[in-house]
Amino acid sequence: MSTNRSDSKENGPMKRIAYLSLSVLLTGGMFSLPARTQDFPPVEMELIQLNDDMYVIHNEFVPGNVTVLVTDEGVLLVDDKFEANYQEIVDLVASVTDQPVRYVVNTHYHFDHSGSNAAFQAAGAQVVASEQARARMLETGQAAGLPVFTTEDHARIHLGGKVVDLFQFGRAHTDGDVVVYFPQYQVLSTGDLFTYGNATPLLIDYSGGGSIRAWTNTLEDVLMLGFETVVPGHGVVTDRAAMEEFQGVVAAMRARTREMIAAESSREEIETMLREDFYWQDLHLTMGFDGLLAEL
Ligand SMILES: [Zn+2]
Repeated sequence: MSTNRSDSKENGPMKRIAYLSLSVLLTGGMFSLPARTQDFPPVEMELIQLNDDMYVIHNEFVPGNVTVLVTDEGVLLVDDKFEANYQEIVDLVASVTDQPVRYVVNTHYHFDHSGSNAAFQAAGAQVVASEQARARMLETGQAAGLPVFTTEDHARIHLGGKVVDLFQFGRAHTDGDVVVYFPQYQVLSTGDLFTYGNATPLLIDYSGGGSIRAWTNTLEDVLMLGFETVVPGHGVVTDRAAMEEFQGVVAAMRARTREMIAAESSREEIETMLREDFYWQDLHLTMGFDGLLAEL
């Protein structure tokens, strides 16, 4: 094993992952953004227990939450972060069960949510995603770890007496967003159609089929499910009320932008509004600004 300068073994790779998350990861290599210069502290994933059988693997600096369902017939994961996180995910799952990972559901195609697919497949797991997410993976060169099963509407996985519902209600963050509902636990894993906290403003991936207009309707459908606990795509575990509030933020952003376009505000003025009121950063502007203006 090679040694890294004075950094610990974990420190170097993690910094790179955090850096990637803020620059090129969502773009499938189609854009290249300016480098970020600040350092991030060394990070370790947290395993947060939701109930008797469910956990979330979370870290503030390494994007992409992983939901873990443990049953007597195997483990199901929702999302699997980056390729570099595979071993840590495996170790955390092994700390609570001897059962193997049987299924990985990808909420969408971004590789902070599907990066460990190939490694989990090699270990015997089945990867499931929407048909659109699979197509986007192909399109963006993620040829390894493609989902074997796809859904376009609703699919149900039965595992160890537990029900796992996959719903695709429509476009939002991308055109292949799937939410994963665990009715027996009233838990919903949303992927990036819901991100929680000011540090994670909504990102509209227009090159991946995202849509601000569809987003509000999609959220309305999602909120009809009977969940209480919410695992967002990014950010800490939260509840239904936070997601309802987020729905208001999406609607407000859409309305404000529309108003400013109608009032013939300049591009710079709209950009300032998005940065100041909706916490958009360079990445969000690169991914979403032109599409947002065109759509509204
Ligand atoms: Zn995403």
